[in-house]
Amino acid sequence: MNTIHLKTPIPGPKSQAILARRQAAVPNGLARATDVVVKSAEGAIVHDIDGNTLIDMAGGIGMLNAGHCPPHVVEAIQKQAASYIHTCALVATYEPYIELCERLNAITPGTFTKKTLLSNSGAEAVENAVKLSRAYTGKSAIIVFEGAYHGRTYLTMSLTSKYGLFKKGFGPFAPEIYRLPHPYLYRRPTDMSENAYVTHCCDQLEKALISQVDPSAIAAILIEPIQGEAGFIPMPAPFLQKIRDICTQHNIVMIADEVQSGFGRTGKLFAIEHYNIVPDLITTAKSLGSGLPISAVTGRAEILDAAHPGGLGGTYSGSPIACVAALATLDQINQPTFLKRANEIGDLIANEINSWRKKYPLIGDTRGVGAMQLIEFVLDPNTKIPAVEKTLQIVKHATAHGLLLIRAGLYSNCIRLLPPLVITDEQCHEALNILRQAIEHVQNTP
Ligand code: PMP
Repeated sequence: MNTIHLKTPIPGPKSQAILARRQAAVPNGLARATDVVVKSAEGAIVHDIDGNTLIDMAGGIGMLNAGHCPPHVVEAIQKQAASYIHTCALVATYEPYIELCERLNAITPGTFTKKTLLSNSGAEAVENAVKLSRAYTGKSAIIVFEGAYHGRTYLTMSLTSKYGLFKKGFGPFAPEIYRLPHPYLYRRPTDMSENAYVTHCCDQLEKALISQVDPSAIAAILIEPIQGEAGFIPMPAPFLQKIRDICTQHNIVMIADEVQSGFGRTGKLFAIEHYNIVPDLITTAKSLGSGLPISAVTGRAEILDAAHPGGLGGTYSGSPIACVAALATLDQINQPTFLKRANEIGDLIANEINSWRKKYPLIGDTRGVGAMQLIEFVLDPNTKIPAVEKTLQIVKHATAHGLLLIRAGLYSNCIRLLPPLVITDEQCHEALNILRQAIEHVQNTP
């Protein structure tokens, strides 16, 4: 039986009215990927206010690994709200904050003693990780990579790479940030083997420590084990190992930003676990709270303790309601069956989208790890010119037929698939079939 039921075009009349109000009341800078106006949601399904039922393949940009409204998360939120809403962790202590930190200390990679600081958003977690790295090392430079996305606050926007979409008109940016090339296997020089290219990238990294900034000035190297916004680009293992070695050798903090890749998305709890490499700090958010605003920096206790009392925190950081939502979410995500299911969903999606490659030359690449899968569209498989407009058309077509979808990619020519990891096989097949039809439609439209 199909999940998707469309009673009106999307947006329907009621949605159109709300969208007009959004247009009048909300700034243009807050763009939207679809015209869907939500009434309710559960699991991997979204109902709009015109009575349409859609399948969510965007998962709130990776925020809904545990699904929309997991019943035990909803229950925990309701119970907490009826007891006390917030006191501020800077004023009084409440157990859910402590328990969540203990849980994150226990489940993140690394056998050393850990501590955790909670905050509200991914960007805030990254900001805190940078503050702590500077306080701990007494150094100021931060190394980041091409394609990186770390947020929209001034520091994290400065750390973020893609200029036109995220930074245009907003400068000047924060100083002491050095951006280095990031390996992108699909777009490597055509005459280079994968191995030769990765070796070249490692050499470039070493060279940058002479040509750009000296290790004695570097506080942290900030990575995404699998770049999210840039288009699900995994860091090659030798490159990541090189970063780990440099950090260890020169007292530099290695920060893994797992805001998008964390909490089971890649089939392991954290993407960096695919590498057997342990970062000093790990930043998390998104799926931690099933939609409640909560984020964390977890890592070596001595780094977390480097800031002076009063140097960290915020009014809402680690609110009790967000903490209990996160604890209930972790109960679900930490089950072996959850990761097993993430891998099954990942395999299902990867097999399906790989099978389309021969048929649709628009598809330049399909890639991903676990259930973090993506399609990159190009105008020609040889020149690899990004098919930006066509990617937009595919999203539009698929949304019109009942999917929530979002793009990604340095060139905005990718569609990323981040469905809630409670999606059923049937729903996944149904959604992928609509996506395939959208690709076919756009492929055949001159
Ligand atoms: N880091 C990464 C890797 C992200 O993907 C994001 C959000 N897309 C952020 C940081 C910023 O998170 P937030 O939007 O919660 O500030």
